[in-house]
Amino acid sequence: MSVLNQKTINTNLTFKGVGLHSGLLATMTVKPAEPNSGIIFKRTDIKEDNIIIPNIFNVSSAVFCTTISNESGVSVSTIEHLMGALYGLGIDNALIEIDNQEVPILDGSAKLFVAAISKIGIKNSDAPIKIVKIEKKIEFIDGSKTISIEPSKISLDIDFELKYENEIIGTQKNSVKVFESDLSDIYNSRTFCLFEDIEKLKEMGLAQGGSLDNAIVVKDNEILNEEGLRNEKEFVNHKILDCMGDLYLSGYKIIGKIVCSQGGHKLTNQLLRKVFQNNENFSLVEITEKHLPNVFVNKSHLRSIA
Ligand SMILES: [Zn+2]
Repeated sequence: MSVLNQKTINTNLTFKGVGLHSGLLATMTVKPAEPNSGIIFKRTDIKEDNIIIPNIFNVSSAVFCTTISNESGVSVSTIEHLMGALYGLGIDNALIEIDNQEVPILDGSAKLFVAAISKIGIKNSDAPIKIVKIEKKIEFIDGSKTISIEPSKISLDIDFELKYENEIIGTQKNSVKVFESDLSDIYNSRTFCLFEDIEKLKEMGLAQGGSLDNAIVVKDNEILNEEGLRNEKEFVNHKILDCMGDLYLSGYKIIGKIVCSQGGHKLTNQLLRKVFQNNENFSLVEITEKHLPNVFVNKSHLRSIA
């Protein structure tokens, strides 16, 4: 299977479950799609204007989760874990049909999406992939929260740090190479919250579907989930999953290096908006065997871009 060609999934995959924030039950079917169609969401419970493209400029809210909306105000929310799975697995094209406003949260991670896609397999096409190559360092700062992206040779590196006063979460740091590292811990890491924030979230109309089955809840020095953590750095690893999902709203694989401290959906979105505002910040490269950009002179590296 050439790593230079666009990919989709082999057959339809259906997921059912509640949305983390809305608490609403949704059935979602991820379907194979033609080359160059990209990732497309379709709200099957709505008859007209029901297509929503996961693009950075369509993000209508990035508070606690990523919500995208089309021009008619039709939206789908909490798309980031599914998008992170698709990004990591190199799925370029898929149609995602959903009959409600929020993607099922399942176990709070991308584990079940990845397992299901790995089981049915990936289908290659003849169409070449396109990548975004970062040409200039761009930074976005919001108080103590910072995020930057800068050019890298061949990979997409994400270097993430989170800082909590809570001792169990504390300061955690991790970095991954998205196209090369084993991402199992990233995919398996669940969303999390502090016990004392739950009431506040519920009052805001959020976390209506939240439970210990789909989120890690930390109360003082204790993790309330009986099974504990899935990996040592589960908190920061989940933030890296979110970041991957939000990066896919650029539409392409990115060659660059992200460094983020205490960021989240909003910061990643603001950074990407800044990057794509100016053509000098990036180049869009179509990767074919005959037309390799300079960064790809070492062909042995190509395998890592799948
Ligand atoms: Zn998340």
